[in-house]
Amino acid sequence: MKWKEYVVENYLQEKGGKYELLKPAIREKIYRELTSNDESKILNASKILIGLDNLNFTQKEISDIEKKCENLPKSKSSSMRDYRQDVNAGIMLIKHFDDGAKCKCGVYEKWIQFPPEREVEIGYLSIQKEPYTNLEKYQIEYDLKCMICKTEWQANQNDGYHYPIYEWVKKGANIV
Ligand SMILES: [Zn+2]
Repeated sequence: MKWKEYVVENYLQEKGGKYELLKPAIREKIYRELTSNDESKILNASKILIGLDNLNFTQKEISDIEKKCENLPKSKSSSMRDYRQDVNAGIMLIKHFDDGAKCKCGVYEKWIQFPPEREVEIGYLSIQKEPYTNLEKYQIEYDLKCMICKTEWQANQNDGYHYPIYEWVKKGANIV
């Protein structure tokens, strides 16, 4: 299933709805969940949010979210990674857009969960050529270009963990 369709149908539960029209409703739900004190809702909202574009959170929403999320307790379940990292990444993205960013190039290197296809679908990046499976490095390599600021990226998908992680490297920078 396509990512935007997934967000509309599974997260928002609006079958057949249009993502662009439902963005305010998506923002509302994410806001409610991030301020809910419910760990699984907070984590889920953070994972949805990180893959989207600018939802235009208001100043009040941003400060409520920050207050609610700044001292979250450690998870009681033994998850693969600390859910608070996902929450921090989500808040980083909200603030990135609040600072006036027009694309997401400023955040790709700062978090391990930016699947390239979602960034392409959401409209920020284009795929420059077929993804390459690098057998020596056990990774899939994507060549991408930002439609907004024209930055060129190589994103490496590594499946060697319990879940895929992504390393983003600017083209022209040293690729190790
Ligand atoms: Zn960009």
